[in-house]
Amino acid sequence: MIRKFLHRIFSLGSAESVPADPAVAVIGCEQHSITRNRISPGSLKVALTLQQAGYTAYIVGGAVRDLLLGLKPKDYDVATSATPEEVRAVFRHSRIIGRRFRLVHVISKGETVEVSTFRGKASEALITTKNFCAHTDATGRLLHDNVFGSQEEDVRRRDFTINALFYDPATEEILDYLNGFKDVMAKRLRIIGEPEQRYREDPVRMLRAVRLSAKLGIQMDDKTAAPIGDMAPLLLNVPPARLFDEMLKLLFSGHALTAVIDLRARGLHHGLLPVLDVILEQPLGEQFISLALKNTDERVQQGKPVSPGFLFAALLWHEVLAVWNAHLKVGEKTIPALHKAMGEVLSAQRNRLAIPHRHDGMIYDIWSMQPRFEARSGRKPFRLLEHPNFPAAYDFMLLRCKSGEIDQELGQWWQTFKNTDNAGREAMLLQEAPARRRRKRRSRSKSAGEKVDAVSQEIA
Ligand code: ATP
Ligand code: MG
Repeated sequence: MIRKFLHRIFSLGSAESVPADPAVAVIGCEQHSITRNRISPGSLKVALTLQQAGYTAYIVGGAVRDLLLGLKPKDYDVATSATPEEVRAVFRHSRIIGRRFRLVHVISKGETVEVSTFRGKASEALITTKNFCAHTDATGRLLHDNVFGSQEEDVRRRDFTINALFYDPATEEILDYLNGFKDVMAKRLRIIGEPEQRYREDPVRMLRAVRLSAKLGIQMDDKTAAPIGDMAPLLLNVPPARLFDEMLKLLFSGHALTAVIDLRARGLHHGLLPVLDVILEQPLGEQFISLALKNTDERVQQGKPVSPGFLFAALLWHEVLAVWNAHLKVGEKTIPALHKAMGEVLSAQRNRLAIPHRHDGMIYDIWSMQPRFEARSGRKPFRLLEHPNFPAAYDFMLLRCKSGEIDQELGQWWQTFKNTDNAGREAMLLQEAPARRRRKRRSRSKSAGEKVDAVSQEIA
């Protein structure tokens, strides 16, 4: 099938895939390692089908960069001269998505390929295009960026030179307008254009710079790095939902530990996770977060599933502990104080980073189950074991042990309890102290809330 496409394209002369533009360097396949068969079948088909329909189409962005670096691309993006509606008309299994950037998602060979129309410089397009308008807010942040443009303009509106290489699957050539190929080879992250203006237009580019340097093990060049410290407050102006998406990409990049350390070093965490300041300054908090991030990085690198709920529960745990302790100090009861602390920490965090409510259940379960690991007599450990979120809460408790927050012995007890049969579990139960039993009996006549409280005080 693909051979048939190629034959048709080449016999058409493929005028559009060979640039006559002197500003572009054409890097032949003898100079790079990207042969057609390294491209995902779905994106290859999408690019070639668009070319066959008479449009220009290239594989762009992270996939070209990652292939040059010998990494497996996370996803494939296609850039084309076809408008979203024209792309829709070519592919039956496709839909237009996005408000800020209108893109088309094409389902091809079981893959979702993101297809974007070449975009131009917003300010010039304001004058020349009737149908699209570009606006910035008071800080210079672009609010709309849906102005179509030429291939070269599209290259220049991208963020970093290493993300601005176009790969033509028909010719196996790379088109390079901005010396991105040299930058990939030198492992250098260089922003396109004037750095301050580019960060002002879209402050998320600062987060992308941190994520990409950590993920790819490359260095930002001085001009790219210099304005970040001063411009970090601009992140406060980015919609919290977009920040959450970008933060999730960073935390699940497989290099979260390096990226979070770098975020903090550059002052970028203030608008995202301001609690990091407090937490990372205490040895226990620092140890806990480092372990949680290292654990997440290992899981991502091994292709194991990761849960945003678990990670945010970990990032905020030492803040919950601090607020919980403050409530206990003024005489509040253990479990209600914990629940109050959980709600307060999560809603304060939400003002900065919109952690979607769908993760609340997991976060609250993980936190509220922690005191229950202390109870190792009667039926309580059996009930805890049956909780649907027990595995996550258990992993979390092990991290607390490892970080030195609680006794290792507790973790070992649960490890054995979890992995043994029922008879073994019965034999492991600790005896309830008689005094405790009496207190518990007395509490039988109390309300449900007070009972939970009595148990938690026994636990504490
Ligand atoms: P990865 O997919 O590995 O996370 P990526 O660079 O492909 O990295 P995407 O979010 O898929 O990231 O974006 C695809 C391409 O779109 C980028 O390579 C870049 O050229 C361009 N791009 C993405 N975000 C921005 C931005 N904020 N400003 C300018 N260009 C961007
Ligand atoms: Mg990508």
